[in-house]
Amino acid sequence: MVVKTVRGTSDILPSDVSTWQALELVSRNLLEAYDYREIRTPIFEQAGLFQKSVGECTDIVSKEMYIFSDKKGRELALRPEGTASIVRSFIEHNMHTQTLPVKLYYMGPFFRYERPQAGRTRQFHQIGAEAIGIEDVTLDAEIIDISMQIPSKMGIKNLKVMLNSIGCKECRSKYVKRLLGHLKNRIKKLCADCNRRYSTNPLRILDCKKSECIQNVKDGPTITENLCAKCRNKLETTEKHISSLGINYQIQPYLVRGLDYYTGVIFEIIHSQLGAQNVVAAGGRYDNLIEQMGGKPTPAVGFAAGIERMIMLLGDRSFQSNNSVYLAYLDFPMHEKVFELLSALRKNGIHTKTTYQEKTLKNQLKTAAKSNCRFSLILGTNELSKGTVILRDMKTSTQEEIKLDNAVAIIKKNIPLVSPEAKPSPFKVGIKADHFVDVNKMIKPGS
Ligand code: ATP
Ligand code: MG
Repeated sequence: MVVKTVRGTSDILPSDVSTWQALELVSRNLLEAYDYREIRTPIFEQAGLFQKSVGECTDIVSKEMYIFSDKKGRELALRPEGTASIVRSFIEHNMHTQTLPVKLYYMGPFFRYERPQAGRTRQFHQIGAEAIGIEDVTLDAEIIDISMQIPSKMGIKNLKVMLNSIGCKECRSKYVKRLLGHLKNRIKKLCADCNRRYSTNPLRILDCKKSECIQNVKDGPTITENLCAKCRNKLETTEKHISSLGINYQIQPYLVRGLDYYTGVIFEIIHSQLGAQNVVAAGGRYDNLIEQMGGKPTPAVGFAAGIERMIMLLGDRSFQSNNSVYLAYLDFPMHEKVFELLSALRKNGIHTKTTYQEKTLKNQLKTAAKSNCRFSLILGTNELSKGTVILRDMKTSTQEEIKLDNAVAIIKKNIPLVSPEAKPSPFKVGIKADHFVDVNKMIKPGS
């Protein structure tokens, strides 16, 4: 039998990878502009890390986690989310001694044993960020701003922030009592999950998608109306900040999150085109988690965005290159001079294609056109003897004969290698020139 991918996982093929790379590049540049630095934590951790932080009663931990024992019988888990690992790392590396807030971002794969469907897979990818160490609503607004900007910069429109606060320990516990009071005589009408949640995680009842639960919650008290003065003020100030940034938002009094560690302001970014899985990104404040995990009391706020869901929203948009060069030649096997030119182009960071088997010139130029090459360089026996090469503009189908020695310089002048968006770095020059330019076009539509 032919071996196939595991249910809920998929290959990201080269035809799609350019979109992923564009999204990653836009996100990196944006996050670094906001002064976040990348952190890479392990893909698997002690299972207890997620049980303690995300919470034993949450769906993520109780139903969706990939847990396994290693050869020494240690209980490990594939990471289902990013915040827990970052908090572990923050404590393990004494990051509280650094200038606060410590601002970290990550991107990579996460794993949840869920029913695979559109926008929901068992291996999925997130881009996320955490600002740790300062309790200031500006950071809540900054995190919401970034999670809107990443999809927006990619050209995704019609995003909306759903905003709420689940309060601090004090006002939340008062509210939960009121909610339980309201639901007491209706408990039989709630779904089986919410019956369980009634005693384990009552706030989650607010978030249940079943109509019988929505009905019974609707006429009850909302947490938004029951916030203490301090929590209300923080929510209102966050609203003020994001309004000043022109962010489209709405207070959603029934919004709660599926992870236990949240406190205070929480949010989701939704897009109607995604159907049932309409949440593109989500996050909020988790001021008690670091202390709860054994660190010093440290406030924090963060978000995570689903890469697959953003890719779905990008649809058929192509981020493929049209900045490559095709080196066509007629002297088979490849003449030493052709090989030298090929190598010189590539060493200069120019994305160069060629053939490695005997093909007619017509055939080679057809390949060049099909793969969207910007220029072709044609080297025949005649040109080789004269020390020249033909430069063909694939857009205009015009061509001219140039000196072989000038070829690299001329191509370099005519193909933009590095986008102004890309951070100047000796390592980036020319590499992946293909998508840099298109990313730019996409950031400033019409330019
Ligand atoms: P949902 O309500 O859709 O299950 P969630 O609340 O479980 O989302 P979070 O843990 O907040 O999700 O993760 C942040 C983002 O990661 C989600 O908004 C979504 O875009 C993405 N995401 C989460 N789980 C999956 C999955 N199984 N497949 C694809 N993307 C996912
Ligand atoms: Mg989920």
